[in-house]
Amino acid sequence: MTDKHEQIYKAAKLLEGKGADRERIRSAIAELIEAVGENPEREGMRLTPERVARMYDELLAGYWTDPLELVNGAIFDVSYDEMVLVRDIEFYSLCEHHMLPFLGRAHVAYIPRGKVIGLSKIPRVVDLYARRFQVQERMTRQIADFISEVLNPHGVAVVLEAVHLCSVMRGVKKHDARMTTSAMHGAFRKNLATRQEFLDSISRGADPLRM
Ligand SMILES: [Zn+2]
Repeated sequence: MTDKHEQIYKAAKLLEGKGADRERIRSAIAELIEAVGENPEREGMRLTPERVARMYDELLAGYWTDPLELVNGAIFDVSYDEMVLVRDIEFYSLCEHHMLPFLGRAHVAYIPRGKVIGLSKIPRVVDLYARRFQVQERMTRQIADFISEVLNPHGVAVVLEAVHLCSVMRGVKKHDARMTTSAMHGAFRKNLATRQEFLDSISRGADPLRM
């Protein structure tokens, strides 16, 4: 593996192994059902531990996604040096404090320095970090850092808007509470006009975030 490949692996922040221990999740969920005082043997819940265990394979897949496979064959040399923007990327993540979903949209922009990545890969980079136990601030930074690492662009900007079910479902219900986070690197941090162009582009014609 080259140094570059190692750096991409490092930026991906994977966990050891190839996946979660499904049998342990199954028994933990069975225990949870009993701890609540529910009947784990009743028809509707009998298969729930197994279903939840399988579900986590998908919802947490980002911990074990091979980042080189993800970008493989999708990086191209070009002389284009204007902003590339992919906006309104849907994402679903799990907050690490409550293990409840937070979901919303990601907007990702970069200014190429001789290299671009296939458009369809950007949502997969978002998923690489969304499909974990997360906090929104860290996820935002990780997406920006990964794109910086892979493309070495003149600048990267990432904005995430999300609704957190842990605040919507509990206590004082605030259905409209949503959080916006951003990470700006390079030209987006240094150059006000570039940053403003990006912020204008993502607000233009945007629907309000709904669930
Ligand atoms: Zn939470």
